[in-house]
Amino acid sequence: MTKSATSHLLPVFARVDLAFERGEGAWLTTTNGERYLDFTSGVAVNALGHAHPYLVAALQQQATKLWHMSNLFKSPDGERLASRLCEQSFADFVFFANSGAEAMECAIKLTRKHHAAKGHPERYRIITFEGAFHGRTLATLAATGSPKYLEGFGPPVEGFDQVALGDLDAVKKTIGENTAGILIEPLQGEGGVRAAPQPFFKALRQLCDDNGLLLVFDEVQTGMGRTGELFAHRRLGVTPDVMSLAKALGGGFPIGACLATADAAAGMTPGSHGSTFGGNPLAVAAANAVLDVMLKPGFFDHVQTMSLLLKQKLAAVIDRYPGVVSEVRGEGLLIGVKAVVPSGDLVAALRAQRLLTVGAGDNVVRFLPPLIVTEAEIEQGVTSLEQACAALAADPKQRAAQ
Ligand code: PLP
Repeated sequence: MTKSATSHLLPVFARVDLAFERGEGAWLTTTNGERYLDFTSGVAVNALGHAHPYLVAALQQQATKLWHMSNLFKSPDGERLASRLCEQSFADFVFFANSGAEAMECAIKLTRKHHAAKGHPERYRIITFEGAFHGRTLATLAATGSPKYLEGFGPPVEGFDQVALGDLDAVKKTIGENTAGILIEPLQGEGGVRAAPQPFFKALRQLCDDNGLLLVFDEVQTGMGRTGELFAHRRLGVTPDVMSLAKALGGGFPIGACLATADAAAGMTPGSHGSTFGGNPLAVAAANAVLDVMLKPGFFDHVQTMSLLLKQKLAAVIDRYPGVVSEVRGEGLLIGVKAVVPSGDLVAALRAQRLLTVGAGDNVVRFLPPLIVTEAEIEQGVTSLEQACAALAADPKQRAAQ
């Protein structure tokens, strides 16, 4: 890197040449005034869209009172947020962090410490699944297990055993005297909107119960309404012992959380974990406001109605352009369209139609509209997909490749 480099941002992202300066609901406006329909929601973060008036007011109000307060002191609003999350879930305790990876770090540490506190420090290994994504810190990368992300960063953090998604026999064979828990996403987001069948989750719960293991759900992407319920595991009918949240929790303000039962959290005593910023008053104000909106009657009905509409309309496009797109997957508004052409080409063609989407593994394009998306916006998004498919189908380069 030289002093004459055009950007001083560490070049770890392949950034698209578009800069946005404002947003409203499901819409984003670039610095030169072009409008885009946002079906990325900041990768499942802006669940209530951009500049939601209730969230803006909550943050503005908090900004005039107190920005930051150390966790050395009491946090009344943090207490309130934690108790609301516990009321809505299986959990007794919540730790607030600043990101998904940090929420997952807490989940991993808590799982290991649970066994150490019960006199079994040798039980520290966690079973994870191929295609998973748990974050970019060293431990969460090891849990993710993808060679492409691990390469060049030295020996991966020890203690993760990865098996194929949905392979119950492999899970059973992997459980040993060092196993502490099983970690899984209810629906893999980055991995390509891939889900294991519901009975697999039930079987994992049983295996955990039979072997004294903790079941950990990574709901960083699926949680906070994305799949049509506050938490995705409600749809599965399987309850974990530990769960991580982040992304939509603050509606765009960085906050993560690790939730656990009292038994799972048994080892977490003063000094065993911490964070300077975790549960900061601004973050907590944003998350309490997000919950206010999401817990209003009918919020998740809307997500489910929009989900059905989007899936039906996407399926019709797939019927018309089988050479470009082949399958719709997912739950709620965490929808994946499997591409036949390279998924990056489809994302670019959609962008040319002023629709923003996100790529994922398995050649999938994610459609992640804000949960407040309207029927008209779904219509518009699907029209953009049709136009993008028509353009790709007419492209001789794409036809030659098929
Ligand atoms: N876990 C899951 C399921 C995720 O999708 C992500 C991010 O995409 C993470 C963890 C990591 O979150 P963050 O990027 O906030 O560290």
